[in-house]
Amino acid sequence: MRKKIVVGNWKMNKTVAEGRELASAIIEQLGEDVIDCEVGIAPAYPVLGEVGKVIENGDVRLVAQNCHYEDDGAYTGEVSTRMLDSLGCSYIIVGHSERRQYFGETNRTVNLRLKKALAEGMQVIMCIGETLEEREGGITESIVTSQVREGLADIDDLSGVVLAYEPVWAIGTGKTATPEQADAVHASIRATIRDMYGEAAAKELRIQYGGSVKPSNAVELFSMPNIDGGLIGGASLKADDFVAIVRAAG
Ligand code: PEP
Repeated sequence: MRKKIVVGNWKMNKTVAEGRELASAIIEQLGEDVIDCEVGIAPAYPVLGEVGKVIENGDVRLVAQNCHYEDDGAYTGEVSTRMLDSLGCSYIIVGHSERRQYFGETNRTVNLRLKKALAEGMQVIMCIGETLEEREGGITESIVTSQVREGLADIDDLSGVVLAYEPVWAIGTGKTATPEQADAVHASIRATIRDMYGEAAAKELRIQYGGSVKPSNAVELFSMPNIDGGLIGGASLKADDFVAIVRAAG
């Protein structure tokens, strides 16, 4: 049985003080309840340290939004996996569509980042998903399949990997894939994983859905057989909404 995983991607939102406040509110609302779901929050780099202190004694994971693929050196503006590890991050998101769209990420650079994070002993959430044009052109499956195959190139062991299927047309737009639409793509991703790694790995791999998940649609999405939680953008910036989404998974 796969444990669901819900992660809030704060993107370029929240100062240090605001991040501390939001993380504290999330911890308070989660309270002592036993929730059968892994939970993470992904603040921007400068906010990681302080949010890490707020959550350090609980079960909420500290997640980074990206990493570089070299150990260190002349890469102005970049952040290494060792730096993120030293801040207490346990997961790193790679290949978010905003990185692909605005910062020139390709399947190859996503693969380099993913390999570096795994080599550092961290876990990775690799985002994949098609644009509206690609969906309308009927090539969703081939786009997502090549993102999976190329993003996971040279990886033998999937135990540190989570995938996040995020149709680009549904991110921050208020448009959500229907549970059936999302589950169909998740099933095809799982089939690709079965083909690459075998039945056991395909059964174990967690695939999150992302794209305008809200408290009002989370239960329906998370009840689909191939959807193992969510990567949450906008709704993760409000403690009430984020915690309601976590409860929908747990
Ligand atoms: C995201 O950016 O990962 C995301 C899913 O955003 P939103 O929930 O705002 O669509």
